[in-house]
Amino acid sequence: MAEKRDYYEVLGVSKDATQDEIKKAYRKLAKKYHPDANPNNKEEAEAKFKEVNEAYENLSDPQKRKMYDQFGHNGPQGGFGGQGGPFGQGGYYSYSSSGFDNFGDFGDLGDIFSSIFGGGFGGRSSSARRNGPSKGADLNVRMEITFEQAFSGVEKEIVITRDEECEVCHGTGAKPGTSPIKCPTCHGTGQVTQVQNTILGQMQTTRTCSACHGTGEIIKEPCENCRGKGTVRRQPKIKVKIPAGIDDNQTVVLRGEGEPGKKGGAKGDLYITVKVKRHSVFTRKGNNVLCEIPITITQATLGAELEIPMVDGSKEKYKIPEGTQTGTKFNIRNKGFKSISSNSTGDFIFTVTVQTPKRLTKEQRELLTQLARTMNEQPPVKKRGLFG
Ligand SMILES: [Zn+2]
Ligand SMILES: [Zn+2]
Repeated sequence: MAEKRDYYEVLGVSKDATQDEIKKAYRKLAKKYHPDANPNNKEEAEAKFKEVNEAYENLSDPQKRKMYDQFGHNGPQGGFGGQGGPFGQGGYYSYSSSGFDNFGDFGDLGDIFSSIFGGGFGGRSSSARRNGPSKGADLNVRMEITFEQAFSGVEKEIVITRDEECEVCHGTGAKPGTSPIKCPTCHGTGQVTQVQNTILGQMQTTRTCSACHGTGEIIKEPCENCRGKGTVRRQPKIKVKIPAGIDDNQTVVLRGEGEPGKKGGAKGDLYITVKVKRHSVFTRKGNNVLCEIPITITQATLGAELEIPMVDGSKEKYKIPEGTQTGTKFNIRNKGFKSISSNSTGDFIFTVTVQTPKRLTKEQRELLTQLARTMNEQPPVKKRGLFG
């Protein structure tokens, strides 16, 4: 397969396009490439159509768009080698390429397609969507970590609140030993269709079945543990591995740790957005670590071997040359943050600031006075003043 095109490029929009612009661009392209509109080059059109749909699927969902902006096409697993990455069995978010068959899963597409093609798309009726399996809701949580934890990566436990399958009825909602029956009102379809005779002829209206609320099933004897819901509210502890190099406001995804799906649908995902606490010494810029190192006037003048504190707690020796000016930046390569999307590592950049001494011993004062004389400066005013 050829290399995947950038989603923004596919839709022909800029990286900061609004949701509205994305939707507009998508409508236009979906119409243009719809296979039915291209009977002469169906195959090519279909490939384009799929590409456009995938791009839209990812850019129209703010969460997915953020992940895409952050990690690109492949999700963030690239840099972390083997074993499904550091996020446990769930692994990172990965982008599914949706074909025609799972259109029904994207609620928003329904209305677009009905407006473009005037009704049901791909033979999927809306009742199938409502009554069939549906993916569970995604959960969003925030997590605060320290600067050092962002640097080295960390494994943390969080407590979330979600529905989990009832262990008594195993999700059916029916009392053990009984099972739900097909709704007699709608015959399990979840919808009732009424035909009315009007002056314009017969009109058909379809609405959600009120007997089963659209589920197609009726539970005669509800499970006592979950009162027929099939799920119970729980607060499980979840282990989250935050990869080294994560930046403030970036998101880690645990697939399948969200709310349970309906009717055998997949579980939702758990999105953990990371808040990195400020550090008193270090700051981050891109993948570089920045820091200010105070030095004395003699170190600046004569040169010195400094011990620079690294984020991981180690120390790096670094020789600054004689005659170093205040504000000079020095670069220790590859001692910054690991990149989350590539194999690169940032640098550690420190800026020296020369500290002018505020208090001198008698001896130091004399030495400096002598120094000043050799530099043809006027000697400094005596500490006690003229009449001291
Ligand atoms: Zn139950
Ligand atoms: Zn029903």
